[in-house]
Amino acid sequence: MNASEIRKSFWAFFESKQHRIVSSAPMVVKNDPTLMFTNAGMNQFKDIFLGNSKPIAPRVANSQKCLRVSGKHNDLEEVGHDTYHHTMFEMLGNWSFGDYFKENAINWAWEYLTEVLNIDKRILYASVFEGDKDMGLDKDMEAFNYWKQFLPEEKIINGNRKDNFWEMGEMGPCGPCSEIHVDLRSEEERKKIPGAQLVNADHPEVIEVWNLVFIQFNRKADGSLEPLPSKHVDTGMGFERLCRVLQQKQSNYDTDVFVPIINEIAEITQTPYGKNEETDIAMRVIADHIRTIAFSITDGQLPSNNKAGYVIRRILRRAIRYGYTFLEQRQSFMHKLLPALINSMGDAYPELKDQQELITKVIKEEEESFLRTLATGITMLDKIIQQTKGGNYKVVDGKVAFELYDTYGFPLDLTELILKENDLVINRKEFEKEMEAQKNRARIATAIETEDWVTLLQDDVEEFIGYDYLETDITIVKYRKVTLKNKSLYQLVFNITPFYAESGGQVGDTGYIDNGSEKVEIIDTKKENNLIVHITKKLPKEIKGEFKAIVNSTKRQDIANNHTATHLLHQALREVLGTHVEQKGSLVHSDYLRFDFSHFQKLTREEIEKVEKLVNKRVRANFALEEMREIPVAKAHDLGAMMLFGEKYGDLVRAIKFGDSIELCGGTHVKHTGEIGFFKIISEASIASGIRRIEAVTGVKAEEMIMTQHNLLLAIQDMFKSSGNLQKNIESLMTDNNKLSKDLDSMKQNFINIEKRNLIDGAKELNGVKLIAAVIDSRLGDKMKDLAFQIKKEMGEFVAILGTDVNGKPQLSVVISDELAQSGRINAVEVIRDCAKEIQGGGGGQPFFATAGGKNPNGLGSAIERAKAFVSEKLS
Ligand code: ATP
Ligand code: MG
Repeated sequence: MNASEIRKSFWAFFESKQHRIVSSAPMVVKNDPTLMFTNAGMNQFKDIFLGNSKPIAPRVANSQKCLRVSGKHNDLEEVGHDTYHHTMFEMLGNWSFGDYFKENAINWAWEYLTEVLNIDKRILYASVFEGDKDMGLDKDMEAFNYWKQFLPEEKIINGNRKDNFWEMGEMGPCGPCSEIHVDLRSEEERKKIPGAQLVNADHPEVIEVWNLVFIQFNRKADGSLEPLPSKHVDTGMGFERLCRVLQQKQSNYDTDVFVPIINEIAEITQTPYGKNEETDIAMRVIADHIRTIAFSITDGQLPSNNKAGYVIRRILRRAIRYGYTFLEQRQSFMHKLLPALINSMGDAYPELKDQQELITKVIKEEEESFLRTLATGITMLDKIIQQTKGGNYKVVDGKVAFELYDTYGFPLDLTELILKENDLVINRKEFEKEMEAQKNRARIATAIETEDWVTLLQDDVEEFIGYDYLETDITIVKYRKVTLKNKSLYQLVFNITPFYAESGGQVGDTGYIDNGSEKVEIIDTKKENNLIVHITKKLPKEIKGEFKAIVNSTKRQDIANNHTATHLLHQALREVLGTHVEQKGSLVHSDYLRFDFSHFQKLTREEIEKVEKLVNKRVRANFALEEMREIPVAKAHDLGAMMLFGEKYGDLVRAIKFGDSIELCGGTHVKHTGEIGFFKIISEASIASGIRRIEAVTGVKAEEMIMTQHNLLLAIQDMFKSSGNLQKNIESLMTDNNKLSKDLDSMKQNFINIEKRNLIDGAKELNGVKLIAAVIDSRLGDKMKDLAFQIKKEMGEFVAILGTDVNGKPQLSVVISDELAQSGRINAVEVIRDCAKEIQGGGGGQPFFATAGGKNPNGLGSAIERAKAFVSEKLS
């Protein structure tokens, strides 16, 4: 079977067991503070396990794009070095939400592997949780007994808490799990050592393929476990590993998922695959990482300098570095792999093809910029090597390597490699100390202490009514205290709420709750695992009973103006620039809106104006809001809704229509576009390769901005006494100014000549050396150096000491004829250092010319006198 047939067979099997097949959620997680990337199939169902949302169906199955490069699951260092861990991989999964439990989960997994896929039963092993005294849990005999139907006891292996007990986080749902392992060694080797000894022992050919998790407990903040009222199943099977088993290959990279990419890398780098371990690793790293990067870009996460974007940037750099070090790639090359990637995955993931141009461009630019970084780093290292060698040291300061790594993104292993070639080593201890210190700084900055929820009322799912109401009567269902950097806040959950929680780029609502005797301010509203939490600085004194919950309506109106304007802007951009324009991010705030989109050039003034006019035309058309709640995705698509990648959509969606603009959106909007009043773009700029950002204002804010600018024009107009055309007035002012400064320049030249003559004529003679010393006219201040050198041209042996005052700042110059300076009898630097004391300053220069600046202009005269005395003494 090829990869695509395998994926389909999984769906077909679980469909036959009454599972609803759902699509993969985006790999990049947007609305979860605890997670940057989807790292398992269950992530998109987290809120169901937590009881915050109702399941869309009791049984669900899918294939999920996962990324394991940060946080709890980080396989990055394994990738490429082994043949079965990837950064990005697909996880096939089936779920039961309070429906079937261990028996069906185990039976079906066995049936699928051995009867549908015909995997040899002799190579399969299962593991079960062995129990844990500290946790107060016994061995999972239930799972053990179900496995006993299919496997002899010696093939059912005990696993400890680390391998066989799954937890969502420090708190929350958890339970024992049962893994299925396959032994892919040859028949002879299997005879020599039983596979059971190699399970979970990092053997490259005895690997885990499927993990069945049985969620039956909830872990509380104090660490204790309580049984869950309804139990769930969560399973995950590595798709690439399954392909390897079925295609009987030695490595995931030999399956049809990776072969086209590996071949292309071999072609581009002119390096055969399978001949040398070092270059093979590099090729596997690159084949793996190109998938990760391409998929995160289609999911809306571009490489950048912080958070998720930085993780992606580092992965790309890791691949470039392997190419640089082991495959001798000095030019950008990763972007050339896109066609091969599309060839292997484009059918299952059409977004790759749709966004091919953007992905290619972003990767190419990142590659080039990192190659420049490498060049800078190598130059810096060269210097360090020279210095260190000069000092006869063998060990280079770890701080240096850390600075290279931290400030310039220069990888440690590359630093080590280059140093090694020069017989030097880095002080790794020091490097690690610096690294640890930095990590600690980051940890302290983000450590959050969360207490347990205090439940006041058992309630179903919290309902959001804020599309229709801005006030309502509520009761508080539960609350908890959250402390970040010694600042405590409270999170409140209501039975129903009119408050919109920050999501989809729109900021959260603010307002207050009031029970007649006390008013408590809501400072923000956020979503956590689909639960709407209202944030307050204090708890109401009487927390039980009814409250009025009231949203700040002025702010909400401003937000709605900006959100609707964002849709109109998106539509207008596609009309003016083309349909390659796609939303890449947005921020809808009460004061302004921000919209990021794919486009390759700077917008011209004409384009910006066209966009503004189109939007304002639609504002004036006063289109009414047509809101379609809970319509099937397919219907929204037929209506022409723009499907934005990187958003997570359930099966039912909300579509927002104004005139011909229609988008899937969960945000709050105006009732009629006329409410927006006026739309004005305030900036347009690039934020990354191929991505531009527009910021704009609407309504009162737009009015204020236009008025401020208009008033400024009026004020400028007033400055010209004559009325008439402002632009002409400014033009003529500039022409006059040009002429005046030219005239002034030529007058200054004359002035310099006169001053020069006076100075030369007034020179005193001292033992054959002429001495000029004077404070010159401050209007010539900026020409003092000129003057000094012009004097020099006309003099024989001489010393000139000049002082002047440039806008209150005293300055001194000393010039000495070359021969005199060379003779060593007198040195301009010594002269200036001495006399500069009079102006409270200091200076320096060369033996024939030195200058100084100071603080005290009143000291100029005495400085000149002092210099005169100093010089006379030297010359006599
Ligand atoms: P391993 O011990 O091999 O790292 P795991 O215990 O981390 O696996 P789970 O978290 O249980 O794996 O994930 C479920 C399944 O996903 C695994 O059985 C495996 O088939 C697959 N899988 C996990 N990590 C990766 C990865 N980095 N690359 C490819 N497949 C993976
Ligand atoms: Mg793992």
